[in-house]
Amino acid sequence: MRKKIVVGNWKMNKTVAEAGELAAAVLEKLDDGIVTCEVGIAPPFPALTEVGKVVEWSDIRLVAQNCHFEDDGAYTGEVSVHMLASLGCGYVIVGHSERRQYFGETNQTVNLRLKKALDEGMQVIMCVGETLEERENGVTEKVVTEQVRQGLKDISDLGGVVLAYEPVWAIGTGRTATPEQAEEVHASIRRTISEMYGELAAGHLRIQYGGSVKPSNAAELFAKPNIDGGLIGGASLKAEDFVAIVKAAS
Ligand code: PEP
Repeated sequence: MRKKIVVGNWKMNKTVAEAGELAAAVLEKLDDGIVTCEVGIAPPFPALTEVGKVVEWSDIRLVAQNCHFEDDGAYTGEVSVHMLASLGCGYVIVGHSERRQYFGETNQTVNLRLKKALDEGMQVIMCVGETLEERENGVTEKVVTEQVRQGLKDISDLGGVVLAYEPVWAIGTGRTATPEQAEEVHASIRRTISEMYGELAAGHLRIQYGGSVKPSNAAELFAKPNIDGGLIGGASLKAEDFVAIVKAAS
């Protein structure tokens, strides 16, 4: 049985003080319910320390939104895995579609980041997903399979890996994939993983869904057999909504 995982990706939102307040509100609301899934929060880099302090004694994981693949050096604006680890991050997101779309991220650079994070003992959430044009052209499975294969190139052990299927057309648009549409892609990803790593590894791998998940649609999505939780953008900026989604996964 795979333990579901729900992570809030706050993207480029919240000052340090606001982030601390939001994390405290999430923690407080989670405390009054039974939570059986893994929960993580990915604030922007400047707020990692503050959020880390708030969640330090809780089960909430501190998650980074990105990392670089070198240890250090002349890479202005980048942050290395060991810097993130020193702040208490246990997970890092790589390959988010916004990184691919706006910052030139490719399957190859996603693979480099993922490898570096795993080498340093950090767990990784690797995002994959097709654009609207690709879906309309009927190449969703081909695109996603390629992202999975290239992103995981030369990775022999999936122990520290979570995948997130995030159709680009559903991110921040209010348009959610139907549970059936999402399940179809999740099942195809699991087949690819089975071909690459065998059935046992495929059975253990967690695949989150992301794309306009809200309290009103979370339970239906999470009820699908191959959907193991969610990567939540917009709805994670409201403690009440995020906690409702976490509870739907519990
Ligand atoms: C995301 O950024 O990973 C995401 C899924 O965003 P939203 O929930 O806002 O669509």
